[in-house]
Amino acid sequence: MTVTVHARHSKKCPKSKEKNAGQYKRCGCPLWLRWGKDGNRSAHTRSWDIATKAARKLEQDLELEALGIEPIKKPDHITIESAADLYLADMVQREIKDPSKARRMLARLGDYANARRVILLKDVTARLLTEWRSTWKFKPKSGSPAVHWSVVKTFFKWAFCTDLIAADPGAKLKSLPSGQRQVLPLARDEFERILAAVDQCGFTPEIVYKVKTFILLQRWSGLACMDAATLRRDAINANNNLTRGRNKTGTEVFVPLPPRCCRDAAYPAQRPS
Ligand SMILES: [Zn+2]
Repeated sequence: MTVTVHARHSKKCPKSKEKNAGQYKRCGCPLWLRWGKDGNRSAHTRSWDIATKAARKLEQDLELEALGIEPIKKPDHITIESAADLYLADMVQREIKDPSKARRMLARLGDYANARRVILLKDVTARLLTEWRSTWKFKPKSGSPAVHWSVVKTFFKWAFCTDLIAADPGAKLKSLPSGQRQVLPLARDEFERILAAVDQCGFTPEIVYKVKTFILLQRWSGLACMDAATLRRDAINANNNLTRGRNKTGTEVFVPLPPRCCRDAAYPAQRPS
């Protein structure tokens, strides 16, 4: 079936009254497509070239339709919100233990983009990410820009690998500084002062023992508070080696401990009464 292009001139257009006005190509009035008995629709362009291409495309689609073949549908583009939901569900399936940072950052990204009328993930550009990132504010010790950026970057890398987007805008941005100064271990005299201070807190001997053991264990194992507090005695073997998984990340920790530390942590039978 033949599809033809015609112009719909505005009232002000000087060509509108001419003979065969519909075929006038250069006035810049809206163009329409016409076919069959009463097929008629806007070509969504004022360019005769583009409208002609749209007409050829429509001819092909009409032909396929007449043969009972449905034209191939392009997949719907995913919204930022839906992509974030899918990503978080995927994190759960991959047993990534703490998705809270990703959830928070993607919600913030969604709010920022939506406020700028960007709803679909494919419309998030490197420029939008750069502008959004420049609005981030961190309290000095709350976390580094680098960590938060890596959360966002990982999300876009995943979206690209999952074919939700044709290009990865996050890959175009430079990384951010970690913003955290290296924390140095306590000096020997600082550590002894901390232990000595425990005696001056007015604790019962039982509590003094527990607190000192906790401090020694953290000092020598490097375990986080939660890991040190919940450490089972059988995590330390006869050679004073400690093995256990970290609660937060699930990674295994192996560290030899000095006898002074193990005596208190692993053999409470020797605790002072
Ligand atoms: Zn016109």
